Amino acid sequence: MNSDWLFQRYVIDKCSIAEIARDLGVHPETARQRLLRARIPIRSLSEGVRTAWSKPGAKERMRGDHNPMRRPEIAARFRGEANPSKRPEVNQKKNATRLRNGHWFSNGGRTRDPDGYVLVRRPNHPGANSAGYVREHRLVMESVVGRFLYPWEVVHHRNGKKDDNRPENLDLCADEVEHRRIHRGEGCAEVQE
Ligand SMILES: [Zn+2]
Repeated sequence: MNSDWLFQRYVIDKCSIAEIARDLGVHPETARQRLLRARIPIRSLSEGVRTAWSKPGAKERMRGDHNPMRRPEIAARFRGEANPSKRPEVNQKKNATRLRNGHWFSNGGRTRDPDGYVLVRRPNHPGANSAGYVREHRLVMESVVGRFLYPWEVVHHRNGKKDDNRPENLDLCADEVEHRRIHRGEGCAEVQE
């Protein structure tokens, strides 16, 4: 074994260190040390991978060595067995639909906040909270006036029922001051939207 042989095998034949080690019957690290001593530049990991793949018959070798099953065999084996719901791309589509329609949430995207107001899931609404919900009576008023409400505008429930969001039960107040004025006029002790 001399450096010419190493050069021939490693540089010309593009053998890997592992292959040379196998030829020599030594540990790959020993083979690597011998290459270094022969002043042969060692390929980097990525270079090594590229070199291995550039050699003729690399694909066949890789299939033979590491994956004895050919693609059609793999396909045949799993055809009809794979559970579609377990396939991520199917779930992705399903999840997107659920999210869009609010079905993701067991409440159908509709719930109530601690104050008793009806919340609707509208993640893209400018007035949505961090969870993506908007108070429904505000959405109704927005559809009445044809624009988004400003944060300081208040929607008042005429009959005092916070979940009665029919348009005819709602009044738009410019701000909380005007809202309180309405309540004072009606003699309400408690301020309600
Ligand atoms: Zn009110």
